[in-house]
Amino acid sequence: GAMLGLLGGGQLGRMFTMAAQSMGYRVTVLDPAEGSPAGSIAERHLCADYHDASALHELSTTCAGVTTEFENVPADVLRFLEQHCVVSPPARSVSIAQNRLLEKQFLAANGFSVAPFLAIQNKDDLSTAIDALFFPGILKVSQFGYDGKGQVRIHTPHELSDAFTYLQQQPCVLEQLLPLACEISVIVARGFDDEISLFPVAENQHMHGILDMSIVPARISAGIVQQARKMATDVAIQLDYRGVLCIEFFVLTDGRLFINEIAPRPHNSGHYTLDACITSQFEQQARVLCRLPQGSTALHTPVVMVNLLGDLWQSGEPDWNKVLSNPNAKLHLYGKHEARPGRKMGHFTVLADTVEQALQQAEAIKVSLKNC
Ligand code: ATP
Ligand code: MG
Ligand code: MG
Repeated sequence: GAMLGLLGGGQLGRMFTMAAQSMGYRVTVLDPAEGSPAGSIAERHLCADYHDASALHELSTTCAGVTTEFENVPADVLRFLEQHCVVSPPARSVSIAQNRLLEKQFLAANGFSVAPFLAIQNKDDLSTAIDALFFPGILKVSQFGYDGKGQVRIHTPHELSDAFTYLQQQPCVLEQLLPLACEISVIVARGFDDEISLFPVAENQHMHGILDMSIVPARISAGIVQQARKMATDVAIQLDYRGVLCIEFFVLTDGRLFINEIAPRPHNSGHYTLDACITSQFEQQARVLCRLPQGSTALHTPVVMVNLLGDLWQSGEPDWNKVLSNPNAKLHLYGKHEARPGRKMGHFTVLADTVEQALQQAEAIKVSLKNC
């Protein structure tokens, strides 16, 4: 089997590695951390900085293609690799999607609805934000934010300056807080041959800024499903994307659909595809990278995915019988050695004939895990 390169060694990379290996590929992971979830199952683990010259040389000379699982891989690293081998996703797409300001500007310029926003790059920009339009709002760092970290809710213009200081005056985006009916996401794959596939729309529930649960199919109207699919397709084309990406949407209380953000990689809200779809988001990532035909994204049954955060490990490893005693539940653990509050340690899914049944059984498992 050919060797594939993977930038980043987290759980998304681990699940990519498993999918690639089951198709006969070998994987080399580049990640600075020792013992990472993907690095520990890959054939080769290059434990080095993303800019490390010898690691990049090895990737570019031994790999048929290189992909990412970490959205903050420096874009110049991808640009370098693009000169030597197949790279998915493209450096240009990643450079936009990994920077919240560039991402918002790209989306707005291409006619997609996003929350009204303002760049806050330095202290001078604070005074331009007195417009009531942006309040209540959220100040978000432009780069490296995830799981709701690096953002502060702001109720009045007076709170803005303190929030900017709290975020260490990093370049930020101030956006209006929108009235949400629900949040949804679409995973889309676009191949080098321009083929596009869309996974079923997921309805996402967050707790403290972290994804808690994805419900599929989303309980939204067929009209919103169609709009979300069209917008996801158009984003992939206009970004000239090649690979798997996720579009997060806000469904507003008045029914309008806004784009929240783009993740240039498989996504936590697409983990349900491992158990519930003919092809998973990770297998699709491998297929696109290797220029193979894409697989069907059809859903076998309704499904609910629940994240397992480190908080559940407070008194040791949870009793997994609480999950596995439901024969329609599937457990996935990421092989992380240290459980910290808020850290994604694994997830489970419940498959059922209806979304209501899947939801009810998933909730029951959640309750029993908490009572361990
Ligand atoms: P991720 O882990 O998804 O990358 P993130 O740190 O990039 O998270 P966002 O997706 O920007 O953060 O925001 C996290 C959550 O905060 C959203 O899923 C949503 O629940 C809420 N939120 C963010 N922006 C807004 C907004 N403009 N209006 C209302 N709610 C918002
Ligand atoms: Mg994000
Ligand atoms: Mg998000």
